[in-house]
Amino acid sequence: MSGPTKRCFNCDDSFQNFRKLTEDERDHVASVVEPEDADSYWRCTHDGCLRVQSYFNYKDGFDLPKSLR
Ligand SMILES: [Zn+2]
Repeated sequence: MSGPTKRCFNCDDSFQNFRKLTEDERDHVASVVEPEDADSYWRCTHDGCLRVQSYFNYKDGFDLPKSLR
C-alpha cells in the first residue's frame, strides 16, 4: 500500500513515502496551483510532515496548512 518514494525537502532532503491526496488536501492544492495540476501532487507520509509536491518534480511543492495535519 505504500506509494512512491521521493525526496522531501522538509525531511532533510531524505527519501520518504508519498501518498495520493485526500479530497480535502486536493481541494487546498487546487486553490494554490492550477486546478488541473492538483492530481499530480502527492503528500509526504512522514510523521508531522505537511509537504505536498509534484509527482514529477520534487522541487515543485509546498506545505499544507496545519489544519490538514
Ligand atoms: Zn516530508
